Amino acid sequence: VIELGTPERSVITTCAYCGVGCSFKAELNGDELVRMVPHKHGEANRGHSCVKGRFAWGYASHPDRILHPMIRDSIDEPWREVSWEEAIGFAAARLRGLQEKHGRKSIGVITSSRCTNEETFLVQKLARGVFLNNNTDTCARVCHSPTGYGLGQAFGTSAGTQNFDSVEHSDVVLVIGANPTDGHPVFGSRLKKRLRQGAKLIVIDPRRIDLVKTPHVEAAHHLALRPGTNVAVVTAMAHVIVTEGLYDEAFIRERCDWDEFQEYAAFVSDPRHAPEAVEALTGVPAEELRATARTFATGGNGAIYYGLGVTEHSQGSTTVMGIANLAMLTGNIGREGVGVNPLRGQNNVQGSCDMGSFPHELPGYRHVKNADVRAIFEAAWGVEIDPEPGLRINNMLDAATSGQFKGLYCQGEDILQSDPDTRHVAAGLAAMECVIVHDLFLNETANYAHVFLPGSTFLEKDGTFTNAERRINRVRRVMAPRNGYADWEITQLLANAMGAGWSYAHPSEIMAEIAATTPGFANVNYEMLEERGSVQWPCNDDTPDGSPIMHVDGFVRGKGRFMITEYVATEERTGPRFPLLLTTGRILSQYNVGAQTRRTDNTVWHEEDVLEIHPHDAETRGITEGDWVKLASRSGETSLRATLTDRVSPGVVYTTFHHPGTQANVITTDFSDWATNCPEYKVTAVQVSPSNGP
Ligand code: SF4
Repeated sequence: VIELGTPERSVITTCAYCGVGCSFKAELNGDELVRMVPHKHGEANRGHSCVKGRFAWGYASHPDRILHPMIRDSIDEPWREVSWEEAIGFAAARLRGLQEKHGRKSIGVITSSRCTNEETFLVQKLARGVFLNNNTDTCARVCHSPTGYGLGQAFGTSAGTQNFDSVEHSDVVLVIGANPTDGHPVFGSRLKKRLRQGAKLIVIDPRRIDLVKTPHVEAAHHLALRPGTNVAVVTAMAHVIVTEGLYDEAFIRERCDWDEFQEYAAFVSDPRHAPEAVEALTGVPAEELRATARTFATGGNGAIYYGLGVTEHSQGSTTVMGIANLAMLTGNIGREGVGVNPLRGQNNVQGSCDMGSFPHELPGYRHVKNADVRAIFEAAWGVEIDPEPGLRINNMLDAATSGQFKGLYCQGEDILQSDPDTRHVAAGLAAMECVIVHDLFLNETANYAHVFLPGSTFLEKDGTFTNAERRINRVRRVMAPRNGYADWEITQLLANAMGAGWSYAHPSEIMAEIAATTPGFANVNYEMLEERGSVQWPCNDDTPDGSPIMHVDGFVRGKGRFMITEYVATEERTGPRFPLLLTTGRILSQYNVGAQTRRTDNTVWHEEDVLEIHPHDAETRGITEGDWVKLASRSGETSLRATLTDRVSPGVVYTTFHHPGTQANVITTDFSDWATNCPEYKVTAVQVSPSNGP
C-alpha cells in the first residue's frame, strides 16, 4: 500500500498520450507529483481515463532524461555538456553558415504532434520567418497526412466532423482500420456503451479486434478484408448503395455538387466495382459486403470512425475520400450521430496540422501559393514568405543524400525510429552537417545529431493541445521544467540567435498571434479557455461558442465533392519468398515505440511485441505457441515470439511495434501514399520461419 496523503494542491492539465485528450487533475505534495486523477469536468473524458494517462507519467523523472544541452563537432565524437548559451550559439552559427554556403533552402525543421500548438506554431514560424523557406514537416506525415488531403478535397477542411458526444446519437457505427478500445480507450468505452444500447456495429479490419465480439457487444458485420484492399471494399459499398437506390438524393442535391455526383455514381455503378467482382481480391464474401452496405445506408444515423489502418497505405488518401463519399452518399454529415471521424493517434496530431506544419500550408490549411494568405503572415512577421512549398521529410532526406539539404532542427520526433526505411533515414541524417535534436531522451535520431537540446515534458509546460474532436484543451505547468526551459522558449532562443527578435513572454501571447492570423482560431484565447475549460474550432465571430459539429449548413468548401476512388493495387506483392501479409497495430498499455511508457516504473509497461499468426500458417511452418520466429521481408528481418490465433486470417500476420528491439520499420517497405507520402506501414509481404531468437 502506498500512502499518498492528502495532496496539498492540484493543477488541471491534459493527457499527452492519445488524441482523446483527457483532462486530469495533477495532484502534488510540495513540488512532488503524487497522482493523476481524471477530471470529472473534462469535456473529452468526463472523469474517465485509461491506464496510460493515469499511471504512465513516471518518465518525467526517469534518469535517462537529458537535462543539459550537448554539442559535438562531428557524430564520431563524444558529446560535450555545454551551457544553453553555447549550445544555442553553436546551433545558430552552424545553420547560418550552411545557408550562406548552400542557400537558404538547405535547412529545415520537423515539428511534433507531441508538442503544444504554441510550440508547433513557433517551429514552423522558425522555418518560414527565420530560415525563409517552407521546409517544415511533421510526424503527422507518417500517420494522418492522408486525412488532411482526403477530407480537404471532399469537405474543404482536414478535421473530424463530430464531437465525441455525437456517438450517443448514432444508430450504426462503421469502424474501419481502427481499434478504439486499445488505441483510444476512453472513446472506445463510450462507443461500447452506445453499442450496448443497441446501435449496430460494422468493423472493417483484417484482424478481429476486440470490438467485434466483447461482452454485450457483437458486430453486425466484420469484413476481414485482405490488407491493402480498403479502396475496393469502400467503393463496392458505394456500388451497392448507388445501384440499389439507397442513397440520400435530397441531401446530395442540396449539399453536394450534383454533376460530380452523377459522374461518381456512373463510376461506382460499373460492374467491376460490384461486391461479386471484388470478392476474390478483397477476401470478403460478396453477400456479406452487400449486407454491410445496406446496413450502413438504411440503419439510421451512420457514423464512421477510422484510424491508421486507413491512412498508412499507398492508397490512404483514396480511402479517406471513399469514406467521405460514403458519408455524403447516405446524408450522414452535419448533425449529431453521424459524420467522418479520424481517430488521431497522438495527443496533438490535429493541432500540429492546424498550425501549418506541412510544407505547402500556412496555419489554418491555407496554401503557401496564396498571396493573400502570405500577406497576413508577412504583415505579422515582417518578412517575405517563400511562395514555393518546401520539402517533405522524405524529400529532405533525399536532398541530404544528394548533397543539397544540410541542416535539420527536429523537435520531439525520433525520425530514425518512427519513419519508414531506416537505412534511408540514417543515410540522409548522416549526410547532414547540422542535426539538432530537441527531445527528452537521447533517441535513435540523436546518434546522428551535432546538437542535443533537452526538452520538457507536458507536466512542465503551458500551452494547448487539440484533440481528435478539434477540442482545444489547456496544458498547464505542473512543475518547473527540469531542463530549465519550456520547449517554446528554446525555439525562441534559437530563432533570436539567428536574428529573429522574438519576445514572447508566455504561450498565451503565441496563441494571440495564432488567433490574429488564423480565422478558425480568431476568438480563441487563454482567458476564454480558463472560463470554459475548452473549445472546439472553428471558434470565431460566426461561431463564438466553437463548433462541436462541422458542416451543419454547408461544407467548408461550399458544395461537398464526390471523388473518384479507383482501386490501384499496392506495389508490395506476396510471392513464393514472402507469401504472407504483415499488418501492425498497438495495445492499450503501450504507446508507440514506448519512449515514455517503458520509462515508467511498472511492469504493466513491459509486455513484449508478439507476432500473431493463424494456426494453419503456423502448423505448415512447424511453429508452436511461444516459439521464436524470424519475420523477414524484402527490406529486412527481425525476431519475435509467435502466438497462434484465429484473430488473423490465414495468409495474414500481425504485430505491434512498441518495443524498440522489434524494429518494425526495418521490415516495412518504402512504398507510400500517392498523395502525401504517408508510409505504407500496414502492408508488408513477409515470410515467417522458426528461429532460435534474437
Ligand atoms: Fe490519455 Fe488517451 Fe488514455 Fe485519455 S484515452 S488517458 S488521452 S491515453
